[in-house]
Amino acid sequence: MKVRNPRTGEADYEITPLGEPDIAALANRLRGKQAGWSALDVEERAALLLQWSKAIASNAGALEQALTTDTGRQKISGIEVDGTLRLIERWARLAGGIMAAAQIENRATSIPGISTSTRLAPYPLVGAISPWNFPLTLALIDAIPALMAGCAVIVKPSEVTPRFIKPLMATLAEIPEIPLTVIEGDGMTGAALLRHVDYVAFTGSVATGRKVSGAAADAFIPASLELGGKDPMLVLASADPANAAEIALRASVVNSGQACQSIERVYVAREIAEPFLTALAQKANAVRLNYPDIAHGDIGPFIFEQQATIVQAQIDDAVAKGARLLAGGKVENLGGGQYLRPTVLTDITPDMVLVTEETFGPVIPVTIFDYVDEAIALANEGVYGLSGAVIAGSVEEAEAVGTRLKVGAVSINDGSLTSMVWETEKTSFGLSGLGPSRMGDSGMLRFFRKQALIRQKGQALPLAAYSEDKR
Ligand code: NAD
Repeated sequence: MKVRNPRTGEADYEITPLGEPDIAALANRLRGKQAGWSALDVEERAALLLQWSKAIASNAGALEQALTTDTGRQKISGIEVDGTLRLIERWARLAGGIMAAAQIENRATSIPGISTSTRLAPYPLVGAISPWNFPLTLALIDAIPALMAGCAVIVKPSEVTPRFIKPLMATLAEIPEIPLTVIEGDGMTGAALLRHVDYVAFTGSVATGRKVSGAAADAFIPASLELGGKDPMLVLASADPANAAEIALRASVVNSGQACQSIERVYVAREIAEPFLTALAQKANAVRLNYPDIAHGDIGPFIFEQQATIVQAQIDDAVAKGARLLAGGKVENLGGGQYLRPTVLTDITPDMVLVTEETFGPVIPVTIFDYVDEAIALANEGVYGLSGAVIAGSVEEAEAVGTRLKVGAVSINDGSLTSMVWETEKTSFGLSGLGPSRMGDSGMLRFFRKQALIRQKGQALPLAAYSEDKR
């Protein structure tokens, strides 16, 4: 299978999607390995994962280079590698405490003589399926806590960005005890994987999430789904317009808008709409593409070519329905890569695809509101509920509005904070996801079944206790 380079447009890489018989054999092997892995003490698993982290750090250059070619941007590739080291360190440090708190020893019950304990039994084999926008981060975000829980894991990253798989597997080869494999393949490989695992952790689009959820139901396995969003940002009258514009810009266009938690709709109070829009358009026009030199500039090309077509169609639809462009607006083909400068639009109407469907590009549609209740109602429209943001003159004012948003996480006086903060649990609303939070303690606890050990230390009941005669 050919893989396109997002900077040149050339198909300069190839993968061999793993077929179902190979997946079945791999699953068997990993299940065998998992028995020994889960028998280790959690601190021993942590030590092995930390060894792996050192191997990743020593090979950071190769991994970063592969990610850079996969995605056409460099700085974020470095951030992904650093973030992976921190991901491993964090779970290695926290896992023992999380397990200790959840494993209840010898608790009395309401029945004298009977006590219980809760034992954590990891799902033997977890399948993780991930998208192309942060290839390394999203491949490992569920795998690491699953490994810490004692599961074996097979990861199937996106076929759009598979170049990092080989250098990552080379680092894993240094610590063969870890029951983790990252495989090459497309949607067919992902679908086949679902038939061989005990739990699926999926990150991707709503359309594929529906298929995965159906297949998981057929296979009778639990699924965690982390899907798309259409995150709103509310800018209240008390906000500083220039500061709010800076936040809106960063939260919308970082990684060229190819992030689930990107701000994709802005609602600004009429009182400050003019200075806000002026500042936003100015700042948007000042953003530089990382072309021709990848080492200079702010945003890169579209990673997935078809995304450029989808985004352009949404902009064209909005303009045809009366939206006014204040910045950007046209996808440019530069050296074979597809780029879009930050695009700011206003005079938005609810029938525009730009406000109903996920865009996944550096596009900021701005709607002016007169009343906060109206803005909240607009923000709560639509099928998604991943996250959102509120900017106001005080944290308290922003928070009072934030609690009324139907989303899994709200950034208060900032945007897209969910990409930086891991400690707090969040569950998506609407079609943005299903299942326990991947953040916070449940990010690990979801990979356990809880086994209750119920002890009788008194006299067991005889059948006579249920006899009709005794009434
Ligand atoms: P996608 O749904 O097209 O693909 C995701 C993965 O699913 C890929 O690895 C793909 O090969 C695989 N796949 C495709 N068909 C499958 C099937 N039938 N069974 C099993 N696996 C299958 O998503 P994408 O275009 O790669 O990624 C972009 C989407 O991901 C956006 O909607 C974005 O919002 C979402 N996303 C969500 C989060 C989150 O945490 N909520 C994070 C990043 C991206």
